[in-house]
Amino acid sequence: MIFTNPAGAPELACDQCGCRWFDRTAAETCYECGAPVTDENRAEIAAALAEFEARRLNNKGNKPCN
Ligand SMILES: [Zn+2]
Repeated sequence: MIFTNPAGAPELACDQCGCRWFDRTAAETCYECGAPVTDENRAEIAAALAEFEARRLNNKGNKPCN
């Protein structure tokens, strides 16, 4: 599942226990329960991050000041 942190950025969370696993690490398994990271999980977070980045850049472009 995808978790959104307080800053609005998406983070991948464990499907099994709901914790935010591989918290900014390259871990291959859940930090809490050891569930493996699936290709689906990777695709999910990659898509969420791409969307977040696009939105962030959009917001930036709309700001009048530099
Ligand atoms: Zn877990």
